Amino acid sequence: MTTPVVDQPLEDSHGRRINDLRVSVTDRCNFRCQYCMPAEGLAWMERDEVLTFEEITRLVSLMVSMGIEDVRLTGGEPLVRRDFPDLVAMLKATGVRDLSMTTNGYLLARHAEALVRGGLDRINVSIDSLQRDRFFELTRRDSLEQVLEGLNAIGAYPEIGPVKVNAVAIRGFTEDEVGRFCEFARSTDNQVRFIEFMPLDGDRNWDPSKVLTGNELRELIEASYPLIEKEREPSATARVFAFADGKGEIGFINPVSEPFCADCNRIRLTADGKLRTCLFSLNETDLLTPLRDGADNAEIERMIRVAVAGKELRHHINDIEFVQPERTMSAIGG
Ligand code: SAM
Ligand code: SF4
Repeated sequence: MTTPVVDQPLEDSHGRRINDLRVSVTDRCNFRCQYCMPAEGLAWMERDEVLTFEEITRLVSLMVSMGIEDVRLTGGEPLVRRDFPDLVAMLKATGVRDLSMTTNGYLLARHAEALVRGGLDRINVSIDSLQRDRFFELTRRDSLEQVLEGLNAIGAYPEIGPVKVNAVAIRGFTEDEVGRFCEFARSTDNQVRFIEFMPLDGDRNWDPSKVLTGNELRELIEASYPLIEKEREPSATARVFAFADGKGEIGFINPVSEPFCADCNRIRLTADGKLRTCLFSLNETDLLTPLRDGADNAEIERMIRVAVAGKELRHHINDIEFVQPERTMSAIGG
């Protein structure tokens, strides 16, 4: 393992220090969540367009030497990528401080042990409903049971920090889930976090009226369960609240109603090797082509620094001129 030497911090032109990288390891998925992918799926990337494990490791290693401290693996569904736990072990060896992943949990029970052995530090599992039929309706897969099995399997490893459960909050759907999620958060070690629905869906059905905001949810919850806000960690996306009686925590990620762009510390690498400086970027920087053409680390580092310097000040979801990016959440790596 090499100790990273950071000569010059990775910083954008608005003075934001960039130390968090999201890597999409595949655009493919075994679910078809309504807020993410069309029922028929998408035109998948060709296999040779997708970064190999060695290429991901080289880029992550370089970025760690440039000041990236946290790496989250996502997709598509990371666990549909063959031998994914091997990638976890390869990335852990780069010296990254915190290696985490986001998964729909369907294949988690099968891979939990290998992920922990590979050195995964933390995991988020996405669950939008705790009722079988409604889970089926939203994900278009009748798989709640397998996902809960996966959650239990990974929860058995104390090496992995507390598992977070993420639910996308959609008006007209999520209101009926809130009570169950609160009881779930209060009776398990899982912190449940509601994420506002963002305009990154494959069906392009998003409209502002479907966003159930974090504040609306909090008010709904507080009608039955008083909450106490916890101190927000720098660059944290979630506002976290403890239940006032001390039983469990609940969080709200409010990118639409309370954008956290001002202290955003993230960049993203797509499965086909494009660097994106914002979920809502309309431009990307191709790192795959130079990598395969034999560019050395100094050249790739220069390209990364130029891209980071141009990181967008903020997203424009709430502006009249907002343009939904071509790529969906699954293709960018949520
Ligand atoms: N397949 C994995 C999963 O679902 O956890 C990882 C990839 S998924 C794109 C990452 C996260 O993005 C999930 O928590 C998912 O719920 C969330 N997500 C997807 N589309 C979204 C949207 N339109 N708005 C808000 N969150 C979204
Ligand atoms: Fe797949 Fe995750 Fe998108 Fe659902 S949110 S379709 S599980 S990538």
